[in-house]
Amino acid sequence: MTSTVLQNYILGGWYTASTGLSVIPSALDGAAVAQIGSSGIDFAAAAAYARQTGGPALRALTFHERAKILRGLADAINARKEELYALSAHTGATRTDSWIDIEGGAATLFTYASKGRRELPNDRVLIDGGVEALSKRGSFVGQHLYTSLQGVAVHINAFNFPVWGMLEKLGPTLLAGVPAIVKPATASAYVTEHCVRIMVETGLLPEGALQLIAGSTGDLFDHLTGQDVVSFTGSAATAQKLQNHPVIARESVRFVAERDSLNATVLGPDATPETPEFDLFIKEIVREMTVKAGQKCTAIRRAFVPSALMDAVEAALRARLEKVVVGNPVQDGVTMGALISTSQLRDVRGTIAKLAEDATIVFGDPNIPPPGTDADGAFISPVLLRCDAPWAARNVHEMEAFGPVSTLMPYTDLADAIALCNRGAGSLVMSLFTHDPDVAVAVVEGAASFHGRVLINDRDCARESTGHGSPLPALVHGGPGRAGGGEEMGGIRGVKHYMQRTALQGSPRILSAVTRRWISGAPELENTVHPFRESFTQLALGKTFTSPLRVITLDDIEHFANFTGDTFYAHMDEEAAAANPFFPGRVAHGYLILSFAAGLFVDPAPGPVLANYGLENLRFLKPVSPGDSIKVRLTAKAKNQRNAEYGEVTWDALVTNQDDDTVASYELLTMNAI
Ligand code: NDP
Repeated sequence: MTSTVLQNYILGGWYTASTGLSVIPSALDGAAVAQIGSSGIDFAAAAAYARQTGGPALRALTFHERAKILRGLADAINARKEELYALSAHTGATRTDSWIDIEGGAATLFTYASKGRRELPNDRVLIDGGVEALSKRGSFVGQHLYTSLQGVAVHINAFNFPVWGMLEKLGPTLLAGVPAIVKPATASAYVTEHCVRIMVETGLLPEGALQLIAGSTGDLFDHLTGQDVVSFTGSAATAQKLQNHPVIARESVRFVAERDSLNATVLGPDATPETPEFDLFIKEIVREMTVKAGQKCTAIRRAFVPSALMDAVEAALRARLEKVVVGNPVQDGVTMGALISTSQLRDVRGTIAKLAEDATIVFGDPNIPPPGTDADGAFISPVLLRCDAPWAARNVHEMEAFGPVSTLMPYTDLADAIALCNRGAGSLVMSLFTHDPDVAVAVVEGAASFHGRVLINDRDCARESTGHGSPLPALVHGGPGRAGGGEEMGGIRGVKHYMQRTALQGSPRILSAVTRRWISGAPELENTVHPFRESFTQLALGKTFTSPLRVITLDDIEHFANFTGDTFYAHMDEEAAAANPFFPGRVAHGYLILSFAAGLFVDPAPGPVLANYGLENLRFLKPVSPGDSIKVRLTAKAKNQRNAEYGEVTWDALVTNQDDDTVASYELLTMNAI
């Protein structure tokens, strides 16, 4: 590969800096892979362009339209993945490592695309929670909602996952309707640059939605505002420096940090060598040490085992580590690649020396290059340390060697294990290997608040477990304290990090208009035609149907009981029902009420209502006795178009009795033709 100059994608075009370039060396042999630089960029203009061009374009789209873009980007990355694999080899990554990065990154976008379609409305605002009653007569109510921030998301990424690290932030950001400026770590920026090129070349991204800084961020931070978000992944030192930028504090710029983490794993007291959990524990530690040559923010750094099992665990780990083959990832049989650079190699060696003040190296020599590796490459053997006095030690709980390095430590009892895990002072993930639910309960209650994710692995889930080190788009990634205090992904939670939650107050009529959801107390539009006769497009929110009263007799109740088989005593045995504190005597079944309500509101002839697909928030509020009457009021509450043929309608259903007391309330969901 010739040493090309990486391009910045700024203000809608590719820009190459001509001065201030630095060389990015290959992890494999130190040869130049590319040059990088961002001098000459007007960062204030880049931020303004994102806010003024990208933001409005994205905000004009609905969540579903944005989700479609994500899907298209993921498809394009998958279609051109081999180009990325070829570049990725220079980072020292094996094919498996790159698979996590490249295809794992595309999969993350796919997940966000599908969650956007399934869990978000085909709309631009997101309702948060229910309507809050704020007044006696109901003319003044509250409703929380999220709208897209009108700023730019600045993503500062670490070197270890040049594709996934970008996409796990980009998915939620774009879905939220916010443009991004991505700044990859220099060491692997050539992979990120190419991935951005692939995405830009799809033509799917609205102008201004994505920019790339290949190099320094210049004075970008001086131009941030309270509508912007910084999402950072990297070292604690850089996070602190950036977080302390005066503009971040002055403008209350959201700063999401994900940084060093001394992730722990615990072998449960029940997981003795003859149990499957013991083997799983050993495999997982070795996997975490060797995948990405241990350069994973989630890798296991501290492994805690019952003191009596220290020797057995050490022997089992050594036996497995012996089988690891370190080398150039393109060579057959290589199971662990290189660190990102020789400078990272120096860092890791330095940190191991610090750890060795507390512990003894029991496997691997960090200072001798593994056999057959290029002396100019960044190769290192996996290094296992053993620290028999973990409470007297400090460095092992505070210093992260960002390489294939882990320290084995004993615990006396479960409380000790929990306290030792928590000595990491906040981590992204901890894992526990146990088959005993009591052990799991104690660890979760004692340690979860210190860890962003807790994996409990055992024989039942091991085959399908995604493992200690894999952040998943559906689950929260981030952790308290030392881990940075940030939170990413977690499904739709991650989208909300790029939106503002606002508490709205006002009348039901106005808030219905703003939230595009009919709110009880807003005008009910009486129909000349039954609302089931109106297509999705014709149906206006607030359209209401009110049924006549229908008497419910004892015969009805007995018929329903015998027909369905639900002969529960509350419906069939007067004396037993009367003894129940909730019932005056025999009462109608809740499901009878629902069924009769359907019979009261339904308009039976074929029409635009295609299917009833469920109901939500059902509550039975008052019993119905034989001789009572019920009626139902059905109001079109919300609409969510799914595609060109049909959309979901949410109906507010209220069942009342002859005295206008509420008997049942729920939301009915139908699928209606457009
Ligand atoms: P850094 O903190 O040095 O870099 C992280 C990102 O911040 C990079 O994109 C870097 O760009 C950028 N950056 C650095 N300084 C500035 C600045 N002044 N203004 C704007 N951006 C800046 O971390 P590294 O990636 O080099 O990794 C170093 C250590 O961080 C690792 O050894 C490990 O301990 C930890 N780490 C933790 C991770 C986690 O997720 N917990 C992930 C990766 C690393 P550039 O590369 O151009 O300097």
